[in-house]
Amino acid sequence: MKPVHKRALELCGTAAVAGLALVVWLPMRGAAYATNGGFLGLGQRDFRVFDNFTAPTANDNVTPDPNFPGYTGATLAIWKACVEWGSRLHGNGNGDPHQPGGLGSGGANFDPVFQGEATGVGGTDDNIHSEISGSQGGVFAFTEVPGTDGWRIRYYQNWAWSDGPSDQLLPGEFDLQGVAAHEYGHALGLDHTNIAGATMQGSIQGNGVPQRSIEQDDVTGLAFVYVTAAPTKPVITGVATAPGSLTITGQNFAASGNEVWFTRATPSANVALGDPIKFTGVISTAGGTQISLGVPPLAGPGDVFVKVPGTAGSSLSNGWPADVTAGPACSTPSTLCTGAPNSVGAGARMAFSGGTYLSQNNLTLRCTGLRPGANAFFLAGRTPTQTPFGNGFLCVAGPTAQLPVRTADFFGEIAYGLNTQALPAGLSIAAGETWYFQCVYRDVAGGGALFNASDALLTTWCP
Ligand SMILES: [Zn+2]
Repeated sequence: MKPVHKRALELCGTAAVAGLALVVWLPMRGAAYATNGGFLGLGQRDFRVFDNFTAPTANDNVTPDPNFPGYTGATLAIWKACVEWGSRLHGNGNGDPHQPGGLGSGGANFDPVFQGEATGVGGTDDNIHSEISGSQGGVFAFTEVPGTDGWRIRYYQNWAWSDGPSDQLLPGEFDLQGVAAHEYGHALGLDHTNIAGATMQGSIQGNGVPQRSIEQDDVTGLAFVYVTAAPTKPVITGVATAPGSLTITGQNFAASGNEVWFTRATPSANVALGDPIKFTGVISTAGGTQISLGVPPLAGPGDVFVKVPGTAGSSLSNGWPADVTAGPACSTPSTLCTGAPNSVGAGARMAFSGGTYLSQNNLTLRCTGLRPGANAFFLAGRTPTQTPFGNGFLCVAGPTAQLPVRTADFFGEIAYGLNTQALPAGLSIAAGETWYFQCVYRDVAGGGALFNASDALLTTWCP
């Protein structure tokens, strides 16, 4: 069983509504931000929304926002709330009439990673925003912390939540975006401040709209936990999309080994799975200012990020909106050519496990039907052929590259995990390319040329 180690750290209430007297924890260190001990590592910066909000006004904004592609209603409002804590403007910063051109004000080595919607409220470490039934006095919402290993935010059902985006709410409505901005501040490690007007002030301001925009005290607190954004932090300044691909412009991208993070297109069946869709081993061009790549399967509209090698907060870029469409499904590898009979039977055959998505990088080449103990290797080439070769046929032609020698196991099989990010010299595989593989092996008992070859495996590579 999962240990119960969470507590509702605080109850974010209002002193103004209904005249409730709430006990609000105040920092002891004077007039400034306070922290709650949380720190979100790069693996916990994802967040999702389970849109179970029941108030009609929580999901009556159906106008798409080009700065937040793919989502409307409560999910859109909460997405805006979180990106306000990002290191720099989210896209052009627009989307909040309360702060035109101002969304994305954190300035620290911290950027929240939007991962779309979830299919349930999740566990206390699954980083999901959702409504909770019932009420708790004058309390609007709460955050389950510490967030170091994940968090969960719940909004009480009894309030007339509004998804905006207008900052002119009707009487009785409360602003989901403003309250979400406050609660997310708890998730990332901040506690209540006594600075009037700050987003992390413990009592709601008016209908909550003012809390959409973080203030200097919030920024200072964020910088205390995550440090002011490093000059070396990668920065995205633009994204151009085309069907199945995109080009990212910015600065401080690594020459190689970048990861590009995407928002998941549809919620995973596993409610606990909120990790970004990652395309790894990505090179940049133009002096670390441009990255072009295909869109991996499972990625969809949302934000994209570039992560350079390393684990520090400064290795992850700001998020930038990208209305991407995933590339088409990749063809399954198939066999062709002829594997000639050998000393143990009908001949060697190619097989595989995994697939040919570069973003998944999980193809393993296999060859069966060898004599146990025989040395063999895979040959890679760009074009097919069928010409006499040893006791069999050459199925792969130029340009070709030879993979390291393996020894057939007791079952007469060899396998080679094809790490497309670290291929042997002479071999590089890019999206859209077709490569053929076959195995070439010693077969002394077969006489003749003393070696033979399998059939071939046709692979087409996708992002
Ligand atoms: Zn609070």
